[in-house]
Amino acid sequence: MQKLIITCALTGGVPTKEMTPYVPITPKEIAESAYACYNAGASVVHLHARNKKGKPTSNPKVFEDIVTRIRAKCPELIINISTGGRGRKQGERGSALYLKPELASLTTGSVNFSNSAYVNPPQIIDMLAKQMLEYDIKPEIEIFDASMLPNALDLVKRGLLKEPLYLNFIFGMKGATPAVHENPRFSAPQDEVLMEMKYFQRYYADKPVNCQWAVSGIGKSQLEMNLLAMYNGGHVRVGLEDNIYFDKGVLASNEMLVERIARLSREWGRGVASCDEAREILGLRHRA
Ligand code: ZN
Repeated sequence: MQKLIITCALTGGVPTKEMTPYVPITPKEIAESAYACYNAGASVVHLHARNKKGKPTSNPKVFEDIVTRIRAKCPELIINISTGGRGRKQGERGSALYLKPELASLTTGSVNFSNSAYVNPPQIIDMLAKQMLEYDIKPEIEIFDASMLPNALDLVKRGLLKEPLYLNFIFGMKGATPAVHENPRFSAPQDEVLMEMKYFQRYYADKPVNCQWAVSGIGKSQLEMNLLAMYNGGHVRVGLEDNIYFDKGVLASNEMLVERIARLSREWGRGVASCDEAREILGLRHRA
């Protein structure tokens, strides 16, 4: 099995300092958190930006500040910029892509969250995919729901996505795919992600798709879903964007979450990918 690629989603759009003092909000805090995660074993950081009031923003200047600080502190680290829609205007979601991160998130469909709809119209998906092609950025395809897999293949067919693909399955978001494994709906116990991958490879695609996959679990499902991916050849995303707790009632820092999954992967014998090993696995071209 390949070494484990650990992505840390440092900030997201939801956690506030009131919820946890550990969530990095300012560019300085985000860069410090990225550096701590890099030292703990993360090869990728997934970034969101916040404005002075701590609200999600697409302001490219804030992203530029964050990216510049991270590149100065740990130039090796792979940067993944979110184009996610929470609290951001549709047309501005790709406004930081000119910074040419090696990865950027791309959600290939719409889905409900617990109290809002996450709307990704086909025109926005195409626009973001085209921008990523233009800047030579690999999309990290965020799969909240099964329909997003055939949508991703449609982008491949239309030349807007290039293999190897990098899929990130997000489980446990209320309103989207639950974090279920050993699903009782099926006669043989099957894990949701493995089932979805089977559908992806066998039923949706005309020929085998060259792809890597990772799993994110929301809230208390994070560790369990990460382990499921680790045991089955996938990669993982941890971080306060998805989960602010280390254990019941114990708040986590980003580096605590990275450290734990890195230790478990090493002890289990899979190891942890360095930044350059992650580039190799994901088919990213090496940056100078
Ligand atoms: Zn995100």
